[in-house]
Amino acid sequence: MAAPTNKQQLLDKTLTVLKKKFHPPAEPDKRPVLEEVVFAMCRESLPTATADAAFARLRRAFVDWNEIRVSSVPEVTEVLGDTPDAGDRAKRIVEFLQEHFERTYSFELDDLEKKGVKQAAKQLARYKDKGVTDFTVAWVTQRALGGHAVPLDGPSVRVLRRLHVIEGDIDDLESTRASLEHHVSKANGYDFTEVLIDHATTICVEVPLCRECPLNRDCPTGIEALARQGKKSITAVAEDKPKKK
Ligand code: SF4
Repeated sequence: MAAPTNKQQLLDKTLTVLKKKFHPPAEPDKRPVLEEVVFAMCRESLPTATADAAFARLRRAFVDWNEIRVSSVPEVTEVLGDTPDAGDRAKRIVEFLQEHFERTYSFELDDLEKKGVKQAAKQLARYKDKGVTDFTVAWVTQRALGGHAVPLDGPSVRVLRRLHVIEGDIDDLESTRASLEHHVSKANGYDFTEVLIDHATTICVEVPLCRECPLNRDCPTGIEALARQGKKSITAVAEDKPKKK
């Protein structure tokens, strides 16, 4: 495949290459909106399997959303167990459920589906100081509201920065995300989100494993890092081997 020359080509190639590597799962059945909000709080910055396990623990340990709402943050943290950032996630989940209950005396959010996507996202964003982040809003927009959004968590932003898709300071994550959404189609939004987070949490981690990264021939950061180390990528070594006749 030829090297990408612009942002669109780079993103298209990134999706193709990462899909081959990570095989995104089929889209799961749609959850109720409130459930998807809590799942997004488990999913942010974590791979699918870890988030699924954290969410399943919550559902097993508590009878319903109200029981989580009236539990203390340490109790919910204990249930989340070894989930990374369990304390922070527990705090956000409890705060959100408390706030939502105080506003509506219910654990329903499905009314949002009846509003336009933009209006629904705006309404959800009103919980931003109560556990909801830009990632939560975008995730729920993509998964439960049928809208086009590309949720960006810290690890995903790190990868996009290393690929030079995002450059400069991010003053406003929402605008950065909106600009990315012009390059990733709605049809590709689900797969792009899945593989980007998987990549960010397994290969393009804090200290990136560039040598074994399938993007290392196109990623400016990887190219520079490997040149500095004087190493060829595993991909390059494999491609340079003489083919058997
Ligand atoms: S080459 Fe390195 S920096 Fe670039 S995406 Fe891969 S792991 Fe991340």
